[in-house]
Amino acid sequence: MGENPYENRARDLAEGFAPRAAQWDRNREYPWPNVAEMTEAGLMGMTIPLEYGGQGATCLDVVLAVEQVARACTLSARILVEANMGGIGAIMAYGTEAQKRFCAPIVLAGDKPAICITEPEAGSAATEMSTTVRRVGDHWLLNGTKHWITGGGVSKLHLIFARIVEDGQDRGIGGFILHRDPEAGVDPAGFKIVRRERTMGLCGMPEAELRFNDVEVPDAMRVNADFGDLMSAYNAQRVGAGTIALGVAAGALDHATRYLLEREQFGRPIAEFQGLQWMLADMDTGVHAARLMLHEASQSASEGFPDRTLAARAKLFASETAIRVVNDALQIFGARGYGDAEPLERMYRDVRMFTIGGGTAQVLRTQVAAARLGIRTPQTRDGYARLAAESGRVAAE
Ligand SMILES: Cc1cc2nc3c(=O)[nH]c(=O)nc-3n(C[C@H](O)[C@H](O)[C@H](O)COP(=O)(O)OP(=O)(O)OC[C@H]3O[C@@H](n4cnc5c(N)ncnc54)[C@H](O)[C@@H]3O)c2cc1C
Repeated sequence: MGENPYENRARDLAEGFAPRAAQWDRNREYPWPNVAEMTEAGLMGMTIPLEYGGQGATCLDVVLAVEQVARACTLSARILVEANMGGIGAIMAYGTEAQKRFCAPIVLAGDKPAICITEPEAGSAATEMSTTVRRVGDHWLLNGTKHWITGGGVSKLHLIFARIVEDGQDRGIGGFILHRDPEAGVDPAGFKIVRRERTMGLCGMPEAELRFNDVEVPDAMRVNADFGDLMSAYNAQRVGAGTIALGVAAGALDHATRYLLEREQFGRPIAEFQGLQWMLADMDTGVHAARLMLHEASQSASEGFPDRTLAARAKLFASETAIRVVNDALQIFGARGYGDAEPLERMYRDVRMFTIGGGTAQVLRTQVAAARLGIRTPQTRDGYARLAAESGRVAAE
């Protein structure tokens, strides 16, 4: 057992999470009891600095805890990532004193902030977003549509990326904090949950389309950071997402190892068949390498957020490896893996999203290649032409 206290706490909780994981999936239910336990154990908002009530945990602490939780319950691991990285990470790094004092207690009480970037017409090309905020006196009016928002309808805090329009001028993309808690009577007018997606995996997590129609956001809720800053906070979220994939793969590897020794065919444990041993060796090697890359990326965050290229590389490798490992684990279980008596079919569905959400494998490859080649990746529709004109060199077209 490791010595990291967050990892140990997470491991203890995960034992209780495992038997309930299928229930959230089957009923498309948000795992509130698990959230309560993670809150009680001090894992929600553990990265929040001490002066705001958190524990000042590091990115590596989160990674160690998330792997443990993801082995048992992918859904809970996603909540843990978003309660420590992504939106709350950006707010604690770039927010005003008042914003930090406002947001920290909400997360420490069990909220998982939603990060709202993607739009129907702006996915990988995030800077093509058309959601706007227009200044009107001492507040902003928010208009637009975001989709695939994790936790939409459940989260109380939202970090919304929108195009700032001031004096009729486009001032670039900024981040705005929106609080919504209908049970406590906080229900911003013009905020609509249009629908919830029916997803392949992670079925207990709402993935929602949100529409904003003249939603009022106080000026005090504008985060003082540009798009580049906000995206550097997102590097932590990427490491978190890769770690969830790692955890699912590590869990699947454990299941496969057990079954190889348990199941007998042709009068012997199937572990004796070399074809399966080699499969297991590849799974084990992939999981180990993914873990090392994620730890390296998380340790690069000592001065803030993880390095962009290390985060992209680690998430890319971990997500693709995890899909392969879980697929192979399911194969080792034969028909049993395809049914719901074992968790493999759920893990297989859960893990599939990690080469899509939070930067697709293709976009991450482009980033890694661009870093290697010392060239920039275009961020806008006209970016290829602009960068080519500036330097004559751009990433793959
Ligand atoms: C489960 C889930 C949860 C999510 N949660 C959130 C969330 O909480 N908040 C949020 O803002 N977003 C969220 N997303 C959205 C996610 O970030 C986007 O799906 C992702 O950025 C890709 O955008 P897209 O789906 O529109 O695909 P597109 O950008 O339309 O891409 C389509 C295909 O083209 C490829 N492609 C695109 N551009 C390039 C390029 N330059 N080079 C090579 N290939 C390219 C892609 O890799 C992909 O294969 C979530 C998505 C999922 C699946």
